[in-house]
Amino acid sequence: MADVATTFLHDQLVDRRQKLAAVLNWQPQEAHLVRLLNDVDAALARMDQGTYGICELCHEPVEASRLIADPLTRYCLDHLSAAERSALEYDLEAAAGLQRGLLPPAETHHDGWEVAHRYRPLGAVSGDYCDLVADEAPERGLFFFLGDVSGKGVAASMLTAQLHAIFGSLVARRLGVAPLMNEASHVFGRSSLSPFFATLVGGRADAGGALEVANAGHCPPLLIRGGAVTRIEPSGVPLGIAGNGDYRVEQLQLGPGDVLLIYTDGLTEASNAADEEYGEDRVIDSIRTGIPASARDAVSTLLQGLEQFLGTAGPSDDLTVMAIRRSA
Ligand SMILES: [Zn+2]
Repeated sequence: MADVATTFLHDQLVDRRQKLAAVLNWQPQEAHLVRLLNDVDAALARMDQGTYGICELCHEPVEASRLIADPLTRYCLDHLSAAERSALEYDLEAAAGLQRGLLPPAETHHDGWEVAHRYRPLGAVSGDYCDLVADEAPERGLFFFLGDVSGKGVAASMLTAQLHAIFGSLVARRLGVAPLMNEASHVFGRSSLSPFFATLVGGRADAGGALEVANAGHCPPLLIRGGAVTRIEPSGVPLGIAGNGDYRVEQLQLGPGDVLLIYTDGLTEASNAADEEYGEDRVIDSIRTGIPASARDAVSTLLQGLEQFLGTAGPSDDLTVMAIRRSA
């Protein structure tokens, strides 16, 4: 495990030990607290011996995200007891429900814009972040965000919830797109464990058809305008990577029928049975065939192209697709 995570876990255990010892000073008879203290001491001893984070049954490493969630974990996912397994499944289902609850509606109509998205986690929860925030001041329009947190599973999904909170509060502070992205990068970097970062496209669509887009190290969104397809290149590093992002904002004016497509790399990096990657060229080909009649139509076209290519092969990553279409 990375040193930074080991240091973090060691500090967590020492902190937990101090708190337990303080409580036991007052309540020395609490048997379950004594047991917990023994478990913490045993974990600290395993750290000293260099066996911490190794499954006690198969001697393979325990998943880092599970150790971060519970530093006392002693078994890998494959070797949990039946009770532990069902508790974990229950937790996962609850986390998945929470994550679904943070998603915008599948279709949104706002000030002459139509937005549709499809959110497909690989497992119960996803490391993809998909969000729409309408500013309380109507002239500020609709903010949209689509991103991908590094890593997978529960740890990544927790960070998507964090992005949701960060962007919700920054939009409420009435920031423009560039300062909003800079501030989000700063806050995200400060508050998440250092191996994590997020690639992300963020922007704003106003009632007059103006669209502002910033791309923080994410795969390029595609603008379909009058049959031509343009890529919107990254204009800064992923969120949470050290330093000020200084994001350049692309200023666009969309007319009726123009569409911006944003997706995560679960689309372009999906592979078929012959181990060929779908790739951006095939994505662009799939949308050249016709101008989408609605945002939902654009999302369906993208996903149909992918499904035809994949054939019998299943997905191998979280996948999210969002279409923002000027309807009026
Ligand atoms: Zn194991």
